[in-house]
Amino acid sequence: MAIIEVSNLKKSYGTLEVLKQITFNVNKNDVIAVIGPSGSGKSTMLRSLAHLEEINGGSICISGDYLVKDGVYPRQQEIKQITAKMGMVFQHFNLFPHLTVKQNLELAPKLVKKESPASLEKRSMELLTKIGLADRASAYPNKLSGGQKQRVAIARALMMNPEILLFDEPTSALDPELTGEVLQVMKELAEEQMTMIVVTHEMGFAKEVANKVVFMDNGEIVESGHPDELFSNPQFERTKAFLSRSL
Ligand code: ADP
Ligand code: MG
Repeated sequence: MAIIEVSNLKKSYGTLEVLKQITFNVNKNDVIAVIGPSGSGKSTMLRSLAHLEEINGGSICISGDYLVKDGVYPRQQEIKQITAKMGMVFQHFNLFPHLTVKQNLELAPKLVKKESPASLEKRSMELLTKIGLADRASAYPNKLSGGQKQRVAIARALMMNPEILLFDEPTSALDPELTGEVLQVMKELAEEQMTMIVVTHEMGFAKEVANKVVFMDNGEIVESGHPDELFSNPQFERTKAFLSRSL
């Protein structure tokens, strides 16, 4: 069953056409790796799903509700309800620097869902335990390594109980020795059947964890398929050229 349906998505910045008729579906429990050269529109596509960008045409349907239909957005209240089904993790973590780790986790559910202090305390400590950072609950982000910051950002997204998690190059800002701990947390989420779209340059992760790889180039999806198929037998010259540079 499709949990995300994207059809004919178009996005331009001024005269620059960044996304050209993007169409794809995400099924429940899919782990989709989005790969492609810098500037191909991967972030714009992901940000459009989370309504961090408004698109110029096409439709995005999230578990049965249109975030945008034929380029037309519903009222703000409805948009909020739909985007609440998704959590996003960014390359640069985007933690609140003036809040502790635990406060970072608790802020959104406290403000948005008016969750009780007892429930917040219980769930935030459970999630911090899950990512191995319960002992850093009172630390401020600047005291953490990049890998720890990104694990906190993932836990913070999980606090809102999203149906879908979107990751935009979650390990690209990390020193190589810190990427493993973040990929491990993501792998565990995949094993727990979390639906995920991951923009990544980590081909090993894509091969091992994703059930579908989407290759984007120049604002288009060139091809997509199971990693075993796409990596070993790419159908298009553009995919071959990209993979030969990346694998
Ligand atoms: P990717 O994530 O694949 O590197 P992006 O989605 O970030 O690609 O960018 C796609 C294209 O859109 C690039 O040419 C980029 O320069 C352009 N772009 C992205 N954001 C903006 C913006 N806010 N204003 C103008 N151009 C943008
Ligand atoms: Mg990007």
